[in-house]
Amino acid sequence: MSTSQGPGTAGTHRVLILGAGYAGMAAATQLAARTRQANVQVTVVNAQERFTERLRLHLTATGQRLAEMDIPELLAGTGAQFVRGWVTAVDAHARTVRIDDSRVLHYDTLVYGLGSVTDTATVPGVEEHAYTLDSAGDAGALADRLARLGCGTVVVGGSGLTGVEAAAEIAERHPELDVVLVGRQEPGANMNTKARAHLRAALTRLGVQVITGTAVTTVLPDGVELAGAGTLAADVVLWTGGTRVSPLAAAAGLTVDERGRVVTDATLRSVSHPEVYAIGDAAAIRQGYGVLHGTCQSGMPTGVHAAVSIARTLRGKQPRQFRFGYYHTPVSLGRNDAVVQFTRPDDSPRRGCLTGRTAVWYKETVSASPWPTYRRMTTMPSSGAFWPRGGRFTRLRDAR
Ligand SMILES: Cc1cc2nc3c(=O)[nH]c(=O)nc-3n(C[C@H](O)[C@H](O)[C@H](O)COP(=O)(O)OP(=O)(O)OC[C@H]3O[C@@H](n4cnc5c(N)ncnc54)[C@H](O)[C@@H]3O)c2cc1C
Repeated sequence: MSTSQGPGTAGTHRVLILGAGYAGMAAATQLAARTRQANVQVTVVNAQERFTERLRLHLTATGQRLAEMDIPELLAGTGAQFVRGWVTAVDAHARTVRIDDSRVLHYDTLVYGLGSVTDTATVPGVEEHAYTLDSAGDAGALADRLARLGCGTVVVGGSGLTGVEAAAEIAERHPELDVVLVGRQEPGANMNTKARAHLRAALTRLGVQVITGTAVTTVLPDGVELAGAGTLAADVVLWTGGTRVSPLAAAAGLTVDERGRVVTDATLRSVSHPEVYAIGDAAAIRQGYGVLHGTCQSGMPTGVHAAVSIARTLRGKQPRQFRFGYYHTPVSLGRNDAVVQFTRPDDSPRRGCLTGRTAVWYKETVSASPWPTYRRMTTMPSSGAFWPRGGRFTRLRDAR
C-alpha cells in the first residue's frame, strides 16, 4: 500500500472532501476561495472526473445528451486538488482515508459528502433485475435498453418525484412503450390540490398508467409482484423506491442514524467526531421541523456552510448554526410540461404553484444553475451564501 499524501508540512491544515456531488462541489469551491491566502490544502476525492447531474438523469435515461461537466477543469487554478478514486475506508482515529484500497490520504478536517444511492437491497430482485438512476452509466444503460425495446411495458417502481419524472420522460420519448408507475403513495402526495391535479393530468395525457396504494414486493426477470395484487408483466423495471447511504461512516465509528447518515450538531460537525463535517444526503441534519431529507436545494447550502465554518475555525472563530428552509419542489413532466410547488420552510405546500411553460422554464433554470454557481463561487464565494434560513421553522432551542 502506498501513501500518496503523507502528513502535511508543518503548519499546513489538510481538508479532505469526500464526494464531489452537489454538496461536495459547493464545499470545495467555497473552501478553496475562502482559504486561498491561508496555509490550507484542500483535496477533493470523487469516483468520477465528470460531475453527475443527478437532477437530470431521467434525460440521460431517455437518450438525451447532457453537457460534459469536468470537475478537475472547474477546480483548476482554485488551489483545490482533485483525486479520482473510490473511497474504501475512513479511519477516524488515525484521520486517514483509503482510496481504491491502495492509497492513503491524511486529513486534519474531513468533509463527508458521499451522497446516497437508490436502495436496491430492501426489495428482493431489484439488485438483479431492475435499472436505477444513480449514475450516468446506469441511466445510459437504461437508455440503450429502451431504444432497443421496440414495444413492451416499462414498470417504474416508486411513485415519489424521481419516479414521476422518469415515468413522464420515458412515456414522452417512447410513445411506443406502455409505462406503468407503481407505488404506495399518490404521485405528488406532498403537493397542494391544484399542483397534484396538474401532475396527475400530465401523466394521464402522456399515457402513464398509475397504480398506487400498493407496494412492489419482488422484482422478477419479467415483471413485478405487488402486495396483495398479483403480478404485473414488465419488459423493463426502473427502480426509484427510496435511497440508502454508504456504510463507510458507520464502519468508521462515526455516530450515524438508523439510515446510516452521519448525525451532525447544529453546525454540521459530526456529534462524535467534531473534526468531521457531514453534508448533503450523507448527513442527518436536524432543523426545527425535523431532519432534512436529501435534496439538491438543501445539499448545496450544507456544503457552503461547512466550508464557511472550516474557514472560520481556522481563523480562531466558532462555527455558526446551520439553518435552512425549503422553498420549492420543481418537477418536470416531460420536456413540455412541469409543476413547481412552492413550500413553507418545513417543506409543506403553500397555496402557490406554477404549471405549464412557466414551470418548465423555472425547473430548467434550477436544474442548470449548480455548475455556473460553483464556477462563480471560485472567485466570489459570498455569492453562494444566500438561501432561505427558514425563520421560526428552523430555530433549535438547544442549538449553539
Ligand atoms: C433521478 C433523480 C432526480 C432528482 N431530482 C431532484 C430535484 O429535482 N431536486 C432536488 O433538490 N433533488 C433531486 N434529487 C436528489 C438530489 O440529486 C440529491 O439530493 C443530491 O444529489 C445530493 O447531493 P450530494 O452531494 O449529497 O450527493 P451526490 O450528488 O449523490 O454526490 C455524491 C458524490 O460522491 C461520489 N461517491 C459516492 N461514494 C463514493 C465513494 N465511496 N468513493 C468516491 N466517490 C464516491 C458519487 O460518485 C458522487 O459524485 C434527485 C435525485 C435523483 C436520483
